[in-house]
Amino acid sequence: MAEALLEVKNVKKYFKTPKGMLHAVDDVTFSINKGETLGVVGESGCGKSTTGRVVLRLLEPTAGQILMEGQDIAKLSEGQMRSKRKEMQMIFQDPLASLDPRKTVGQIIEEPLKIHNIISSRAERQKRVLELMEIVGLAQRYYATYPHELDGGRRQRIGIARALSMNPKFIVCDEPVSALDISIQAQILNLLEDLQQEMGLTYMFITHDLSVVHHFSNNIAVMYLGKIIELASSDELFAHPTHPYTQALLSAIPVPKLENRRERIILKGEITSPINLPKACRFASRCLYATKQCFGEEPDLKEIAPGHQVACFLKDKPD
Ligand code: SF4
Repeated sequence: MAEALLEVKNVKKYFKTPKGMLHAVDDVTFSINKGETLGVVGESGCGKSTTGRVVLRLLEPTAGQILMEGQDIAKLSEGQMRSKRKEMQMIFQDPLASLDPRKTVGQIIEEPLKIHNIISSRAERQKRVLELMEIVGLAQRYYATYPHELDGGRRQRIGIARALSMNPKFIVCDEPVSALDISIQAQILNLLEDLQQEMGLTYMFITHDLSVVHHFSNNIAVMYLGKIIELASSDELFAHPTHPYTQALLSAIPVPKLENRRERIILKGEITSPINLPKACRFASRCLYATKQCFGEEPDLKEIAPGHQVACFLKDKPD
């Protein structure tokens, strides 16, 4: 039976703002099995990146448990967390912004090995950096090159090599391909997939683009205004999208075969403010099927089929 590497239970992340409390992540629960990928999908501002940062404790959770192999890392001290963080790495959307422009490729990849004193000998460190460059498909000739001299795909390979230098078990990939050209996107996705198989890595893959995670993820969580509103296996979600928001996201994916095309659902209406949220379905202001109940109550995430959870009152009623 598959074993969970990460279990996130009722995690919240609120920010105080001058206008009130911003519910960036609001009672989110999910788990990721060892060696598997959870795709986390939603529009900008839905809380997906904040969730990734809270899971790595780059942001402190307001409430909830983050169990990594059964240990609640939300309770670890700063010192304990520093050592734990080696196992939990992140790959960022914009490689150029996340890489120090004054350092060469070799220095950037070497840095975590030095900071965490993983390899003390300079010659051994250089050997390891060259190994990591080979693993991610970066030619040795780029060792002394600066990131701005490389294209987006190669820069993302530096970010991946840097994350791998710590021998992590778990990586949060935050929109790792959205700044890249389509052809380069495929190369980076293939690289991440190969690395997962070779090293048994577990990924949380954050993206605004459902089509990117379809073949890449075992499970997909769709987020809207800080909440998971649908969670299912990737195949189940694409075969039976149930929440009206998921249906709208899927309808926007271009499909080459005419007979497989879904009718495009254009979302209208204002997005509800995540500050001082009303007691209502967060999608009600844009939902084609909203009823009076939706504006007065918030639906819970409920299992509608094995492994398929949805937060929508429509699914509470018999078909
Ligand atoms: Fe739409 Fe109501 Fe379902 Fe919310 S609960 S998604 S408003 S039908």
